[in-house]
Amino acid sequence: MMENEFEEEFIYHPLENIEDVDLFYEAIGREHLTKAISPERPYTYWTIELYDQQNGLRGGGGLGVLAADTRRVAEKMGVPFVLITPFYPHETHQTIHDGVVYDEHVDVDYHKFGFRLVDSVNIKCCDALCKLEVIEKKFANTRIIAVTEPNFGELYSDTSGSDHRLYQEVSLGFGGYAALKLIGLKPAIIQLNEVATFFAAVARLDELVHNGMDFYEAVVYTRKHTLYTNHTLVQAAEAEFTLEQFERYVFPNIKSSAVRRWLSEKFEHGRIKLSSITIEIAELKSGVSKLHTRVANYHDVAGNKVKFKAITNGIDMDAWVLPGIMSFYHQAQILDERDMPLDDLDIKLEALSAMEIRLAKNNGRRVLNKVLEHRPDHRGQVLQFSDDDFIFDFKRRFVDYKRPDLPFRDLERLRAVLEEHGAHYLLAGRVHTGDHVMAGKLKHLLEAVETDDYLRSHVHYLPDYDEELAYGLSAGSNASINVPIVGLEACGTSWMKDVANFGLLISTHDGGVADGSINAYLNVSGADENEELNMLYQRMEEVMSAWENDFDLETLVRRQLVEFLPVISGARMLKDYLDYLFPI
Ligand SMILES: *Cc1c(COP(=O)(O)O)cnc(C)c1O
Repeated sequence: MMENEFEEEFIYHPLENIEDVDLFYEAIGREHLTKAISPERPYTYWTIELYDQQNGLRGGGGLGVLAADTRRVAEKMGVPFVLITPFYPHETHQTIHDGVVYDEHVDVDYHKFGFRLVDSVNIKCCDALCKLEVIEKKFANTRIIAVTEPNFGELYSDTSGSDHRLYQEVSLGFGGYAALKLIGLKPAIIQLNEVATFFAAVARLDELVHNGMDFYEAVVYTRKHTLYTNHTLVQAAEAEFTLEQFERYVFPNIKSSAVRRWLSEKFEHGRIKLSSITIEIAELKSGVSKLHTRVANYHDVAGNKVKFKAITNGIDMDAWVLPGIMSFYHQAQILDERDMPLDDLDIKLEALSAMEIRLAKNNGRRVLNKVLEHRPDHRGQVLQFSDDDFIFDFKRRFVDYKRPDLPFRDLERLRAVLEEHGAHYLLAGRVHTGDHVMAGKLKHLLEAVETDDYLRSHVHYLPDYDEELAYGLSAGSNASINVPIVGLEACGTSWMKDVANFGLLISTHDGGVADGSINAYLNVSGADENEELNMLYQRMEEVMSAWENDFDLETLVRRQLVEFLPVISGARMLKDYLDYLFPI
């Protein structure tokens, strides 16, 4: 078993009775923090994707949602925090006709979302100067700084080893670093949210050397202040860039010849994976769940296996949990005012009755219905559900390892399971642009559903999955299904939204779910996919019966919350990062 290989002591230290930010700092080591972090010297968080619709930025999935949640949590916790990201002037929306998905491109105007134009910075690409606009949105403790230009393209446009991606990544790293300086900020910490942000650390290193620091000292300094957060499991799957691409896009932006030499020595046969050099420039390395840090298979240039510190993702609970449920958590002293989980959750959760669960879920159903008013299903039909309808949902990107089609492998059985309780099945998740295999699977699945009278009227695909649908479904459905192939989900956060909103979770033991015990939720497992499928149907029957029985409903919801609230809390996540960055 992998059990003990990199097993970390992973204890949560809930903060009790935090009166104000000063006390919070004290609890996590004020000395270190005030020395290191200040409004002029903030925690900087670099991300190629930010999913924050309220602020006009649309991402692709969990990586971007996590970035938005992290900033919102930092804002509430009073941590000086700056998020640096590209602003893509176009975004993609998806529609569906006769089972075929189509991408639509929409222009976005940052002025509409409260950003102000600061000035511009230049980066060098292919013997030319590229002018990037620097835009900024300030909050009380945090800000979003973005770099953009009219031809920036869309998020994840082109292939991952392409010139255009490298251009976007170089713009974020070198352009973003210049933007920070323009605004008068110095990074206390550089957190690299995946390797596409690598060039931010190179810009830092280059500045230090250019200012006269000895090269090796500068490497050590940069390493000590850089955290690489890995979300991917397999290094082998990562795209490579060539030395020739670096000569055109990267080296012209580096002033120090020592830094250029250092980088060019890392190429093997003229090619490089950004992860292998990110590992070198970041002493601090984290993975996004306990299981992920154990299975992530990364090696440094010397061939040694890389150790990642487990800091499981969390969510900004205010953004994702129904206000009535948040009031309950606060009143019952389950979460403190910073949404940090308190002690004795099991005892406190005894106050949660089936009646309260049902009332909260009825509220959630109204929230869902409101969303569905303007989000018709794949047939163009506007759906509305009564409190008595039982709803299953499956909502996440339509990619193979998440197995969105698993429940549809045995249509007869699926129909029988759903029909017995008159249940509905809502499916949401965008297909990656250009992923013809998964687009085909979705089409096939929807065609198969058409062949059955019951399924036709009870299975609905909701196109253009986004934050609004994620929130509506978490709030309003009774049970959610999360069945990634075990070992392939780094963390996942949709299931956290469901659990926090009193939904019952049917899941494989993977990603952040595996931070809990196998009995914390309705587990799906088996020796092969057929066994898993069989268990999935059983679990679906089980949750529908549980919902009809007060005792069973209370038991299952409480059990999920006891184990998972400490994981779900975004405040806990940020505290874990601060503890790791500034050990006391
Ligand atoms: C929460 C959320 C995600 C996260 O998805 P996972 O598959 O759980 O990682 C992705 N997209 C949107 C729109 C979300 O709201």
